[in-house]
Order: sequence, then structure tokens, then C-alpha cells
Amino acid sequence: MEDDEGEEYLFKVVIIGDSAVGKSNLLSRYARNEFNMNSKATIGVEFQTQSMDIDGKEVKAQIWDTAGQERFRAVTSAYYRGAVGALIVYDISRRTTFESVGRWLDELNTHSDTTVARMLVGNKCDLGNIRDVSIEEGKALAESEGLFFMETSALDSTNVKTAFEMVIREIYNNVS
Ligand code: GDP
Ligand code: MG
Repeated sequence: MEDDEGEEYLFKVVIIGDSAVGKSNLLSRYARNEFNMNSKATIGVEFQTQSMDIDGKEVKAQIWDTAGQERFRAVTSAYYRGAVGALIVYDISRRTTFESVGRWLDELNTHSDTTVARMLVGNKCDLGNIRDVSIEEGKALAESEGLFFMETSALDSTNVKTAFEMVIREIYNNVS
């Protein structure tokens, strides 16, 4: 790709996964360094735009959060349209959310017609004392599906920035 001065990179990234796994808090931690204990407080925001520097270029990611519609299994195709990156999130303290990952991957595949940089995210790693999914299980699933993998905590910030930035970097590598 030509290295123009005015060149712009703007990538759409979606966050998917079961209700209450911490999707909204991962985004608010990354974009605003905020965390909210009350899950009901996060509604309304469609997406947040966040910039990072790669090879001296400003790369912007438009990161989309569901408005809670995943509760009704009604995440629309508009949500996925144009996405080139995805974080598929489960909660390490609730196995059912890990068991749903396959369904989320199917939905993502159904709605995407391009290469999507995908990361499996085991969130709430601060809850190690009530862990219900081992790191090895997360890694193994990611490996078998060809996904990046990371455990994160939106609460104490562990790996949040790293997870988003790895996805954004991979998208950049895919297009440049
Ligand atoms: P969403 O439905 O996937 O968007 O989940 P939310 O971001 O609304 O979070 C659901 C609940 O989990 C809220 O009570 C959050 O405070 C809590 N939560 C989110 N991330 C973490 C985390 O990393 N650690 C812990 N302990 N709680 C979290
Ligand atoms: Mg949410």
C-alpha cells in the first residue's frame, strides 16, 4: 500500500459474547479508563473510536459494543457489517459463557465476508478464586479455531489494552 501522508486507517471492531461477560466494561476501560460495577449503567453508546500509532501511522479503531441485545439473541447484521476485527468474550468464572463461544463464532462467520482478526478473551481473570474455565481450555479452544487468546480483567486492567491493540495490529497487518 502507498504510504501517503494523508492516508487514513479506520477499522471496525466488534465485541461479542454472552450477556454480562464484561464487554461494555472492556470497552470503557480501554477507551476511557473507566470501570462500572453496575452492569445496567452501560447502555446507549454504539461505538467508541480509539487511536493508536503503528509504524508512525495513526490507526483508528471504531469499536462497537452491543446495547444489551445479545440477551435476546438479536444482534443484527448491521452490527457485524464491515467489521474487520472481533473480540469474542467469555467470563472465566461462568462456564456457560465459554460454551457459547462456538455459537458466537458461527454468527460472526455468517455475517462476515472478509478476513476478520479474531481474539478469544477470557475476561474477569481477577476472579481466579472462583475460576470455572482454565487458561489451558481457553488456549486450546483458541488454537483449534485459529484465534488469538488472552485473559483480561476490565476491573484491574490486566491485558485490556494489549488485547485490543493486538487485534488492531493484526488488522493493520492484514490490509497493509
Ligand atoms: P456486558 O453485558 O458483557 O456488556 O457486561 P458488563 O460490562 O455490563 O459487565 C457485567 C458485570 O460484570 C458488571 O457488574 C461488571 O461490573 C462486571 N465485570 C465486568 N468486567 C469485569 C472484570 O474484569 N472483573 C470483575 N470482577 N467484574 C467484571
Ligand atoms: Mg454491555
